[in-house]
Amino acid sequence: MRYLPLFFNLRDRRCLVVGGGAIANRKVGLLRRAGGRVTVVAIRAGRDIAALGDDAAIDLLKRPFVAGDVSGMAIVIAATGDPATDEAVARAARDAGIPVGVVDKAGTSDIVFPAIVDRDPLIVAVSTGGAAPVLARRVRAMVEALLPASLGALARAAERLRPAVRRRFAEPRARRRFWEGFFRHQSAAAMIARGGSDLADSDDDRALSSIGAGQGAVAIVGAGPGDPELLTLKALHRLQEADVIVHDRLVGAEILDYARRDAELIYVGKERGRHSYGQGEINALLAHHAAAGRFVVRLKGGDPFVFGRGGEELEYLRGCGIAVETVPGITAALGCAAAAGVPLTHRGEARAVTLLTGAVGGELPDLDWSAHARSGATLAIYMGVATAGALAAKLIEGGADAATPIKVIENGTRENERVLGGTLGGLGRLIEDEAVRAPALLVVGSVAGRAGILAADGLTAGEVGA
Ligand code: SAH
Repeated sequence: MRYLPLFFNLRDRRCLVVGGGAIANRKVGLLRRAGGRVTVVAIRAGRDIAALGDDAAIDLLKRPFVAGDVSGMAIVIAATGDPATDEAVARAARDAGIPVGVVDKAGTSDIVFPAIVDRDPLIVAVSTGGAAPVLARRVRAMVEALLPASLGALARAAERLRPAVRRRFAEPRARRRFWEGFFRHQSAAAMIARGGSDLADSDDDRALSSIGAGQGAVAIVGAGPGDPELLTLKALHRLQEADVIVHDRLVGAEILDYARRDAELIYVGKERGRHSYGQGEINALLAHHAAAGRFVVRLKGGDPFVFGRGGEELEYLRGCGIAVETVPGITAALGCAAAAGVPLTHRGEARAVTLLTGAVGGELPDLDWSAHARSGATLAIYMGVATAGALAAKLIEGGADAATPIKVIENGTRENERVLGGTLGGLGRLIEDEAVRAPALLVVGSVAGRAGILAADGLTAGEVGA
């Protein structure tokens, strides 16, 4: 091991940085974040360093370095970029027995700055001891992607709970068991402990009771329109943490592949010839697994709160006193339209977008169709395949022009995406002739007349220029 990895408590300790450029500035920033009181010695101070002069904890001395500058310092950083000066700084520090870091000269440094992943108070530091700084940064990026942003909040929550935990579990082994449970279900624990959970008026003791009782939690997660790359990072993290994933038909196998190998997958979508779950059964299933201490992800296509019944699940689980978190997803209208190159709003042309359902219980819903026909908003219609003809007729009857452009986006953002173009008057026929199947999104409005992109095997040659 070239260097001993350590974390250094710099709070209110004096630190010296010699140099006034961008690199020196970054070091000053780090030392300040760790609470150090920084003296900067620089002949010329760059703009960034000069601005630091306003920080009361920074002493900016615009003059050449003298050996006496190191006295009383906890650490010294040489970052002038001038080898002779940096060497003089290093020598002065070493003579005074003060650890010194010379930027880009690991060989002559007592200390090196690692690449860091900051989930304060959780910090991951990566170093190759100066052998390959770019590699260290790559590793840092990998770790960065791996660790949820919420880990910091989790660590803070744990810190806050420590006195209460100590009171409650006097025996060290019991205490450790508690913490292991806490971190195994980190999302659940963080939700509960932050008090930012949806458990009403949760306080520390109540949080401890839920965690101590092995209570799990539910995250209602939007999986986006289909392309796995359109998952949010948060959705990905929740999937990787889940003990149980309750999903429906819109969520494809590629997305479920992100689950842990030992996670239990429960399909609750409707399919002919299989038992299909009613909403009440789904609610009970979620509550059952959470109560048994599992971290449950309820995974839904698109966004959970857009035609997804996520709101009902949220209310039910809250009512049972179960911690719930919701993770937004890219809803079909936004994902499918953008991926197909159809702008839902367009300057001077479309100033509003309306999300509608084309069917309720298989029937055209009871909406004010003539208001929608005349609103000028782009209509993004979900679940409209079966009712498309009737729906177009209602809109035209309500005053819409039969020549209004439409797009039908079938399996949007997926490999088998199809984008079809036409007019409102021909919508029903188009869907029949082309045998369009759900899931498909209908876009009605002048923006649908824009060319869009040439999807895999989507637009026919005639439509490309339309
Ligand atoms: N919560 C989901 C919508 C569920 S309703 C969301 O926010 O997207 C189901 C309807 O969504 C489908 O009938 C279809 O109209 C639309 N939809 C979902 N995924 C789609 C996709 N990949 N391509 C086209 N339409 C899609």
